[in-house]
This record gives sequence, C-alpha cells and structure tokens, in this order.
Amino acid sequence: MVLESFINDHNDRCNTRKQQKEKRREKLSKESFKQTVSKTQEAVTGDFFIPDFSLVKSIHETVIDARKEDSRGGYWHPSQMHYMCPRGEILQRLLNIRQDAPDLNLQTKFDVGHSLHAYLQYVLLKSGILIPNPNSKAITQPISDIIFSDDYSFLYGAFEHITSLAEYPVRIDEYNIKGRCDGIFEVNGTKHVLEIKTAGPKWWVKKSVQPSYITQASLYCEALGTDYFDILFLDKAGTNNLPYFEVVKEKDCSAVKNVFDKIEIFNNHSEAHTLPSKSIYCEQGKRGFMKSRCPVSSWCMDASECTKLLKKWDDEDIIVKV
Ligand code: SF4
Repeated sequence: MVLESFINDHNDRCNTRKQQKEKRREKLSKESFKQTVSKTQEAVTGDFFIPDFSLVKSIHETVIDARKEDSRGGYWHPSQMHYMCPRGEILQRLLNIRQDAPDLNLQTKFDVGHSLHAYLQYVLLKSGILIPNPNSKAITQPISDIIFSDDYSFLYGAFEHITSLAEYPVRIDEYNIKGRCDGIFEVNGTKHVLEIKTAGPKWWVKKSVQPSYITQASLYCEALGTDYFDILFLDKAGTNNLPYFEVVKEKDCSAVKNVFDKIEIFNNHSEAHTLPSKSIYCEQGKRGFMKSRCPVSSWCMDASECTKLLKKWDDEDIIVKV
C-alpha cells in the first residue's frame, strides 16, 4: 500500500471518529435526548415529573464543550513514560495522530478519580500528614477565583484549592519531563512521595502494582530528591471493608534510567530524521491502564512505508518534538 493511501486511510478513520463523536453529541442535545429520557423514565415508577434532562445537558456542556483541546504541551508526563516507545512517538508525530478527546463517560471517570484524590489529600492535610506546598496558589488566590475560573483544570473548584495545597510541581528540565505529585510527607525524618490511585473491583482481587506506577513515582522521587514513595490505593467501588491499600517502595533507579534512555533515543532520532528500530520498548497491546494497542503498529511493521515516511519527513521538513 502506498503512503498516500495509508494517510488517506488514517484520515478517513479520524473523520469517522469525529463524525461518531458529533453524533454522540447530537444524541445528547436534540430530540433523541428526550427519547433517552423517556426510556429512562419507563424504568422509574412513582409519581415523578418527566425531566427535560437539563441537568445532564448542562453537565455535558460544562465538562465536554468547555474542555480545551488536548495538547502534549511540549513535555513528557511521568504517567505516560513507562509505555512510551520512541519509535511510536516519532511515527505518531509524522502521521499527525492525536489522542481522541475523552467523551462524557471517560471524562466523568477521570473527574471522579480526581475528586477522590482531592478527598484523600484533604484528609491527609487535615491529619497533618501531608506537608502543605508553601508555594500553593491556594494561599494567595481567593477561592472564588479558583472555583469559577474559565480554565477547565479548575473545574474541580474547591477540590482544586485542596490539590494545590497538597501537590508539588515536578520537573526534570533536561528531559522535558513535567507533572505534579500528589503530596509529600515524612516518615522518621525521611521524605516520601505520595501517589494516589483509585482502583476498581477487579484490581482488589489481584492487588498487583502496575510497573507504570513504579516508573511514574520513581520519576517524582528523582525530581524531588527523595528515595521513597508510597502508593495509596482507594477502592472507588466501595466494595471492601477497608477501602485502602498502601505500598511503600524505594525509587527504582533502573526505571528512571530507562525513561531517560528512551527520551534520548527520541531526541537523537528526531534531530537526525531517522526512525528508532523496532525495539525492546515495544509494548503494543499493553499500553497504559486502558490497554489500548499501539496506534501506529500497522505503519511500524511495514518497512517500505517507514521508508516513505522518512522521505516525507525530509521533503516536507516536518519538525518532530515532544
Ligand atoms: S508496534 Fe511496537 S515498536 Fe512499533 S511503534 Fe508500536 S510500540 Fe513501538
């Protein structure tokens, strides 16, 4: 298959996804919205008025429509780095593949997870365990500014006030890594990084700690000059008598080095306009908690298409960067 058809094929798929998303939005905004309501209503017994779904519609508009376009922001986020494949990252940029913005369902899951983070951060701040961030904007900015700010990142309103007190910015400039850790506390005079994870019922059966969490927390330790991290799991389904599980670990230096190596490979190849080889970093089929497959595997596996992509890279002078 020629490169053009690959790209056309990709664009077609993107357009189809866009159309599907539009359709879903339509569904929530017009007549079909009312049909969904009456279907829901059929299952409800009792003396209720039929709502017009204005509450749900408002949630949809606030959460999804107000959301700014996702961008990579020019930084690597520590949570993405365990499954990062330098070859895949270059291919994604050459093919201009971007992650789909979350829909209402996925965004709600993220937001509920963040809210639970804030709840735990509040409890741990109140109990005096977490060390408040002395540079928090919560100290200098009125809470009303934070709650009603246009910036979607402040959607969590009062929660955001708490998270900004608890969280610490994390940067490793040399490698363009940037994020925020959930908190810092001390155990016998030793600083620990806190990482909070909400986990569903399936996780509580195995209680296995994903390697990507170890890598993420180790990067926080590296940036903040600490050697230990605690991962605190919260049972978001509320199915356990003790809804918490705590794991303490020492920073994994080899995981940190692995990330730095991958970023160097990415940088060197993007400068030289070459593709890293199919490599030990190949994690297709198990990328992140959503277990999505590598989005560029079909291009990656075809040597002739890769050659054409390299030519396009040079001919069109495409800039490939994080
Ligand atoms: S298929 Fe594997 S090696 Fe190829 S880009 Fe995807 S993750 Fe990387």
